[in-house]
Amino acid sequence: MKMKKCPDCGGYTMKEKCPKCGIKAVNPAPPRFSPADHYGKYRRIMKKEAGLI
Ligand SMILES: [Zn+2]
Repeated sequence: MKMKKCPDCGGYTMKEKCPKCGIKAVNPAPPRFSPADHYGKYRRIMKKEAGLI
């Protein structure tokens, strides 16, 4: 089962076209993975833990 997203109204549909807008629905973009942010968060946690010791 593949859900597609309407770029206009942002609604999800399983059809090729959005039933509301009648325009072509597209595959929703996968959630962006940002390693920089992840490591930044990790570093902040490390700093916090280091302060507790
Ligand atoms: Zn739509």
